[in-house]
Amino acid sequence: MTTAAIGAGPARLHLSENPYGSSPWALKAAREALAPTAQYPDPARKDALEAIAEWARVDRAQVAVANGSDELVLLSALALGDRDRPGVTTAGTFPGYRICLTAVGRGCEEIPLDGIHTDVEAVAAAMDRAGVVYLCHPHNPSGAVLDRGRFDRLVEQAAVTGTPLVIDEAYLEFAPAGTPQVRDYLGSGAPLLSLRTFSKAYGLAALRIGYAVGSADLVAELRAVQDTMPFSVNAVAQAAAVAALADQDHLEDVHRRNALRREWFQGELLLRGRQSLPSATNFVAVPVADSATAERLLAEEYGILVRDAGRFGFAGHLRVSLGSEDDLVRLLDALDEIDPAAALPEDARPLRTAPAGAPSVC
Ligand code: PMP
Repeated sequence: MTTAAIGAGPARLHLSENPYGSSPWALKAAREALAPTAQYPDPARKDALEAIAEWARVDRAQVAVANGSDELVLLSALALGDRDRPGVTTAGTFPGYRICLTAVGRGCEEIPLDGIHTDVEAVAAAMDRAGVVYLCHPHNPSGAVLDRGRFDRLVEQAAVTGTPLVIDEAYLEFAPAGTPQVRDYLGSGAPLLSLRTFSKAYGLAALRIGYAVGSADLVAELRAVQDTMPFSVNAVAQAAAVAALADQDHLEDVHRRNALRREWFQGELLLRGRQSLPSATNFVAVPVADSATAERLLAEEYGILVRDAGRFGFAGHLRVSLGSEDDLVRLLDALDEIDPAAALPEDARPLRTAPAGAPSVC
């Protein structure tokens, strides 16, 4: 038995889940929607679609509701752009884009990252030859966001080339206010689609519901493919999503608590001599000497699940979800044991004071 003891169950720090849970109103709505189980769900997803359109202040024709953003990645790979051209995404990112593009026979070109960052100029240059482009923003697994100028550049190039630009905004709710997002550019005329989810900040991952907001013509193409699976979004998820959207206080609370925990965790890493990448999300990328071995040892010997970002081509980092403080302390203790090499020497560490603004408990 190692000194970082295994708790009641595995610490789930591998899937960027929400440790604060969903709005109680969403749970109530879900329970009520469970009653008539013999009935099919609304294939038009009308209530959810209208609630999202109203909340996002867009036309209903600009919204599609689906079974999680996973399904939206597949639908968009099936439906959007010139299918005779490969899809393009970056290397070192969420693998769903490549997997879906490959599965539907389009092929996928991966643009290498510039260090740990999206190479915006290289992506823009690839749009000419691409059938569709996928970018993850905020980026999984680095946690980084693009600045306004770089976002502008991508949108401008999508407009010039006519290549659909799909931005996966699964983690946008965790990012600081003012972070550029697709919704800011819907008036630009560029072919844009954002993929959003109720799995992360809304804490409804088990129910499987997400949505796309974008150019009406792209949404129409998505919806045409959705007609092959009219009941893919169950009634419980539809009802919960409507109630979750109505409880923006809960969302703000999750945003605030996640930001505090991120600051605390990154401060703790520093105090133990460890670096981490800046993050606008509910996970943090932590450099380690050997990420594959670290993932395995943490799971097998400590009961701590984290994601080796090397699996996504983002080598040398663990992606750690900002879970409960207890689980994160377990992880920090375990890392001290299995990965001391990646820590800075004691005399290069910051003084043992709390980072500015970090609460002792959050
Ligand atoms: N996109 C990204 C970047 C993700 O990290 C995930 C899940 N971790 C998804 C999409 C899929 O999310 P969901 O299907 O739960 O909406």
